[in-house]
Amino acid sequence: MFPLFLRKFNILKKQNTKPVQRQIKSVQTKPLQKDFRCTKDLFSYAKKRCIDALNNEAPYEHVVIADIKKNKVLTEFIGEENKCNIEGIENFNLDKENTVVIHGHSDSTPISVCDMYTLLKNNLGQIIAIDKKGQFSLVAKTPNMSNDIDAKYKKYAKEHYELTDEMTQNNVYELYNIATDYVLKKHAPLMGLRYCSNYDYLRK
Ligand SMILES: [Zn+2]
Repeated sequence: MFPLFLRKFNILKKQNTKPVQRQIKSVQTKPLQKDFRCTKDLFSYAKKRCIDALNNEAPYEHVVIADIKKNKVLTEFIGEENKCNIEGIENFNLDKENTVVIHGHSDSTPISVCDMYTLLKNNLGQIIAIDKKGQFSLVAKTPNMSNDIDAKYKKYAKEHYELTDEMTQNNVYELYNIATDYVLKKHAPLMGLRYCSNYDYLRK
């Protein structure tokens, strides 16, 4: 069970269940390596790209978009410190089952509502967030994806916002991360998605 004291942060309830849309400066960039012998090597490369960016003197979010059937990196993006825009991926002929987005999350936050929106609105199979230490969280589409995914997504986003409102303003990131994980664990199965993570703060 999720501790009820989290509710005390929920003073102002936002009714907005859409991710905040603002102009995010992102640059599409060429991968250092495109073709890989196996998926494991591809993941090691993508993970390193994301971690190096988070540990950079001027940290930024790096995004690797890859096809894990062809073991090929399709493109990469360089974003801002905590955000990245992957506009332009619609120009790629994406294999909706095998395209994976791998990106960095500096605060070890699990998959965000914006990430979920990106996953559901594009021809993507899964989205993975990697933190500075290489820990991850991921959400993947499954053959059992809900037929009513838009309504289910709205419920998930609403509960996320209701539970986590004010937490980031109050610098309670650990609670924010635990709450984000709680909402994903509850709603991913309802949406017919697979969610998992290995962040150490979730094992305490
Ligand atoms: Zn993200």
